[in-house]
Amino acid sequence: MATETKYIFVTGGVASSLGKGIISASLAKLLQARNYSVTIQKLDPYINVDPGTLNPFEHGECFVTDDGAETDLDLGHYERFLNVRTSQANNVTTGRIYKTVIEKERRGDYLGKTVQIIPHITDEIKRRIKLLGTNGNYDFVITEIGGTVGDIESLSYIEAVRQLKWELKNRCVCIHLTLVPYLAACGELKTKPTQHSVKALQEAGVQPDVLVLRTEHKLRPDIKAKVANFCNVQPGAVIESRDCSTIYEVPLEMQKEGLDKIVLEQLGIEVGPQPELLPWRSFLERYKNPKHHVKIALVGKYVELKDAYKSINESFIHAGAANEADVNVAYINAETVNKDNCESLFADIDGMLVAPGFGNRGIEGKIEAVRYARENNIPFLGICLGMQCAVIEFARNVLGLDDANSLEMDEKCSHPVINLMEEQKLVTEKGGTMRLGAYPCTLKDGSNAAKAYGSLEIEERHRHRYEFNNLYKEQFEAAGMIATGINPQTNLVEIVEIPTHRWFVGVQFHPEYKSTVLNPHPLFVSFVKATIENKK
Ligand code: GLN
Repeated sequence: MATETKYIFVTGGVASSLGKGIISASLAKLLQARNYSVTIQKLDPYINVDPGTLNPFEHGECFVTDDGAETDLDLGHYERFLNVRTSQANNVTTGRIYKTVIEKERRGDYLGKTVQIIPHITDEIKRRIKLLGTNGNYDFVITEIGGTVGDIESLSYIEAVRQLKWELKNRCVCIHLTLVPYLAACGELKTKPTQHSVKALQEAGVQPDVLVLRTEHKLRPDIKAKVANFCNVQPGAVIESRDCSTIYEVPLEMQKEGLDKIVLEQLGIEVGPQPELLPWRSFLERYKNPKHHVKIALVGKYVELKDAYKSINESFIHAGAANEADVNVAYINAETVNKDNCESLFADIDGMLVAPGFGNRGIEGKIEAVRYARENNIPFLGICLGMQCAVIEFARNVLGLDDANSLEMDEKCSHPVINLMEEQKLVTEKGGTMRLGAYPCTLKDGSNAAKAYGSLEIEERHRHRYEFNNLYKEQFEAAGMIATGINPQTNLVEIVEIPTHRWFVGVQFHPEYKSTVLNPHPLFVSFVKATIENKK
């Protein structure tokens, strides 16, 4: 719609975890509802080239895009809110910036110049920001700067924003997100941290245009006026962002506060009528008024940190709403599961999901959990390592191959029913070397997967090194575990099912990455439906 791309920068102050990602995604949603094309980018200040090598305990789940980029979990929010795909260009880390600059230096591209943070690193940051605008033909590029203003590691990003504010003039808006804490002892909301955080931004040469204040309590008009006055922003540009019962309410709250309106005004764009967001509202309506209640066990090894399974959790919310069901996800630490406690751990569940993961820890507990779900006809969804555990369990307890395992867990096992993929055998580097991103898969007619998708050709995202060992396929199928999804090019088994079971599906790919509010993932929808029927 707009002729020239507009850039919106979102910075954060006072504390981390204020929800810049959700605010960015909500603003994007509101602009999208006004028929603008919008994309969101996350700049992460750490040195890792991407989060693929990070333990989920560090920053939560690693989100995978269609093009196989291992990215920050905020990209998952962007996709879930906007219902549009992101790519590698949407997530850049300091490591990636420096890697590019150092590679250029080694090639001799800098022609003998001293390579420095300013201008070379900042230029590379600016290039990555503007790239989305030039290549993607977007009306708006929202760039979320990770970290907190004042951190040493964010400095070059803030400097890049300062320079871009000059270059882009009226084509850019800076939004700064801060916290207004409530001090119970004196019963007051405190604005000083916000004032200090804006001052830190100003010292770096950046004047924010809009302030979003996170707060647990309503902000009185005089508090907003005070902040506006101290921080050099218009009173209308101080936006309150109160805690919501669900992140999916934030766009509606931001619309009430006029965040999209003030951004458009600042950019000199005609505001126009306020969009109704009807599909979004109807999702929330269903989500908040469930007719069914189901409990699904999520068996994994990172259960202490819910962010480690972010996309799975959100997929349950989307699929729950689609089924008018409240899905209560019970986190079960795989390491605590054994033959003797399954009965008590899983007595009241309506379904079970065994989670993705890497390495030996918790693996035997996951296998025991699968056995319980299989033997008790409990709807089961295994994702990636969860699917591999289902295969191992079936090999051991149905085929009688006692020593069956994945080569990842036991290199010497006599029945490697999960094998290292051929192309992985020579791989030594860890970063970005798995089978990553979207691959096609052909489904078997009549299978649960085919019924769920309503189509026989699908495409799903992957992140793994190991695969089902096709040497065992006939043996599995003869005993009742059927390969119902196959990669048409490589013959790799992508889905296994037990047709005699109520609903038992294991997938080598990650359906959770593709579930969005307006497009809940068909496998999750079908799985939740099976858990509701199981309950009856
Ligand atoms: N560790 C397994 C593999 O590499 C599964 C990976 C996953 O669950 N994402 O194949």
